[in-house]
Amino acid sequence: MTPQLTDNYMVTIAERLKSAYARIALAAKKHHRNEHDVCLLAVSKTKPTEFILAAYQHGHREFGESYVQEAVDKITQLANYSDIVWHFIGPIQSNKTAAVAQHFDWVQSIDREKIAKRLNDQRPVTMHPLKALIQVNISLEAAKSGCHPDELDSLAKYIQHCPNLELRGVMAIPAKTDDPQQQIQYFEQLRACFDRLKAQYPQIDILSMGMSGDVETAIAAGSTMVRIGTDIFGQRKGDN
Ligand SMILES: *Cc1c(COP(=O)(O)O)cnc(C)c1O
Repeated sequence: MTPQLTDNYMVTIAERLKSAYARIALAAKKHHRNEHDVCLLAVSKTKPTEFILAAYQHGHREFGESYVQEAVDKITQLANYSDIVWHFIGPIQSNKTAAVAQHFDWVQSIDREKIAKRLNDQRPVTMHPLKALIQVNISLEAAKSGCHPDELDSLAKYIQHCPNLELRGVMAIPAKTDDPQQQIQYFEQLRACFDRLKAQYPQIDILSMGMSGDVETAIAAGSTMVRIGTDIFGQRKGDN
């Protein structure tokens, strides 16, 4: 059931958020991890600001958005809620980097130097450095965003030298698969990327992987941030 604005959506979203936290805690426990080492990003793309506020009133602060214009509109409308932490998680076109640099706290989808350079150049000097994750095309899909795993080290090195960016880790959206072994393998490959970068750059602490459908597997493989949309805010139009 998708929460509707006409329903008692505040209660629905609060309950779904609670279930998401519980799901993370259970998976962490099962894999002998501390639940507080796995952060929940609530992915609010396509959903109204009322839904974001419902989660906010329940104590949630970290939100993920994928579409630049939609996100900027929401961030502007919610400007009074200055402790919301906004993550940009969608593909980034060059002509959208200024908006991302001006409005977000985090960007999780840097996949090439050109984008990193523009974000660095366009980040207002009055803001703290933009926290940055590199998106890795871990399942080597032809049409997917993310840098090739072989390009990860040079891109990390580039970002590390950008004064207005703060390199914090890696993100991936692995290809959908019905093969659980394959799914685990993708997550473990991203974990290996994370460990390799962390060995070079000690400030790195975010391994962003796991969505509504695969939270448990991602946490088993070491995820430190799961990005959950559907399970909190309901199905999105256009998804099936
Ligand atoms: C939409 C999206 C999510 C959330 O996916 P759900 O399956 O709805 O939980 C997570 N990460 C990224 C990058 C997304 O674009």
